[in-house]
Amino acid sequence: MSEFMLARLDEAEAEFERALVVEAECSGVPVDEVREYWLRPKGQGRDEVERAGTGWPRYLADIEAKRRIVELHTPFHVTTENDGLNWDYQGCGECSMPDGVEEGETWWPCETLRLLALPYADHPDFDERWSL
Ligand SMILES: [Zn+2]
Repeated sequence: MSEFMLARLDEAEAEFERALVVEAECSGVPVDEVREYWLRPKGQGRDEVERAGTGWPRYLADIEAKRRIVELHTPFHVTTENDGLNWDYQGCGECSMPDGVEEGETWWPCETLRLLALPYADHPDFDERWSL
């Protein structure tokens, strides 16, 4: 799941790079200048698109935030013995174990990652077991 999501986020970032190249080719402006213009600091003509929830800086910030969430929610596997019972846990290292999980069951991918993956449910690499 982590690899799947990181690949989708890499694709989204690559879309920004492709848009930069297209804009540079269409306008005749060098790619670096287009990048500088598109990513200019707030207060330099960027505020209106930011308020509308559009604009490349917010787009890239959204990708980075999602990438950090994916990197935070990593799988773990623990085997413990308690009161003579062997417990075999597989789950998210960040999220608490949900109620009702039995020995040997898994809570991976966690609900957080499943929610992040929802927009990609129609992707050919999406695993139906990740559905909520
Ligand atoms: Zn998690």
